Amino acid sequence: MKMHNFSSGPSILPPEVLQKASEAVLNFNNSGLSLIEISHRDTSFVEIMNSARSLALELLNLQGKGYSALLLQGGASLEFVRVANNLMKVDGKAGYLNTGNWANNAKNDAAYFGEVIEVASSKDKNYSYIPKNILVPNDLDYLHITSNNTIYGTQFKEFPETDIPLVCDMSSDIFSRNLDFSKFDLIYACAQKNAGTSGVNLIVVKDELLDKTNRSIPNIMNYKKHIERESMYNTPSVFSVYVSYLTMKWLKDLGGITAAERRNNAKANLMYSEIDRNSLFYGTAAIEDRSTMNATFFLKDENQTKAFDELCSSEGIYGVKGHRVFGGYRASMYNALPITSVQKFVEVMQYFETRYM
Ligand code: PMP
Repeated sequence: MKMHNFSSGPSILPPEVLQKASEAVLNFNNSGLSLIEISHRDTSFVEIMNSARSLALELLNLQGKGYSALLLQGGASLEFVRVANNLMKVDGKAGYLNTGNWANNAKNDAAYFGEVIEVASSKDKNYSYIPKNILVPNDLDYLHITSNNTIYGTQFKEFPETDIPLVCDMSSDIFSRNLDFSKFDLIYACAQKNAGTSGVNLIVVKDELLDKTNRSIPNIMNYKKHIERESMYNTPSVFSVYVSYLTMKWLKDLGGITAAERRNNAKANLMYSEIDRNSLFYGTAAIEDRSTMNATFFLKDENQTKAFDELCSSEGIYGVKGHRVFGGYRASMYNALPITSVQKFVEVMQYFETRYM
C-alpha cells in the first residue's frame, strides 16, 4: 500500500524526483557510474550545482537582483550560527522574533556572538499565534524571522516593515507561496521539507549584505567564501544537492510557486474545514495565523488517542503525530503532498467521528 505521507521532515517528495534520484544512484546520466561515486569536481556534477543555484534564484524571482544562492551542509541549525557569525557586528546587536522552538534556538545560538534582543514573542500563549504590530528598533544589525513555525502550525502572513536587514528562516515554507522575496536580505531553509531531502541547506543572500562586520569568520562559516567558491568550498552533499535540483525542477515544470500556492491553499482549506467541523478535534493555532504547511490539532478526549492512531495506521496515514514538545497531531502538507492524501485523511477523521462521537 502506498502511504499518505504527512511527515514534517524529511518529508514527501514527488514520485518523479524519487525515480530520477534512484536512477542516478545506479547509473548517473548513462555514464556507467553512480552519482555518489564520482568527484564533485566532475563537470556533470558542477553543472547540477550551478543549475540548482540558478533555479533557486529563478523560482524566488531574484535572478539579476544582486543575490547569490548556496547549497551547503549542516542543517538549518547550522545557519542559526552562520547567520550571526556573518551578520552581527563586533559589539553589535541582533533582533529575533520568538515565535516557536526553532526561532528560540536561532536566538539562543546568536547570543554566542553578541547582544540579542527579543523584539516580539508569542511564548505567552505557547506559540499559538504570530505577534502583530511589531515595533522594530532601528539599531539592529538584522532582524531574524521564522516565516513558518513547523511545530506549532503558525505562519507569518505579513512581515514587519523595516529598513533593518531582514533574515528569514523559511525551512518549512520556502517555495510554498508567493512573496516579494526581495524584501529579505537573507533567506535560508533546510531542504528536507519543500526543497529536497536532508543533508543540504539553501541559502539565498544579498551580496551587498556580506563582509561588513569587522569580524574574522572561519572559512567554513563564511558565506562570502562559499559564494567565491561557487558553493564548492568543500565537498558538497552531492546526493542531497541532486535531489534539491530535481525538486526545484519539478516545481518549475509544475508552474513554479504560483501553482504550488494554489495547490497548497486548496489542501489547507480542506484540512482546516474538517478540523473545525469535526466534533472530536480542535485546532490550536490562531485562525488568522494558521500555517498552510503544518496543521496542528488535538483530540478533545485524549483517551481516544490509541484508537485514532490505530485507525490512521490501518488506513495508510503516516506521520501525523505532533512534535514531541507539543503533542497532539500535525498534518504537514508540503508541496509534494497530493490533495488526494488530504481527502483521504479527512475521510478517516469523518469515519472516526461516526464511530466515537
Ligand atoms: N527551522 C525550522 C523552521 C524547522 O522546522 C527546523 C526543523 N527541521 C529547523 C529550523 C532545524 O532544521 P535542521 O534539523 O535541519 O537543523
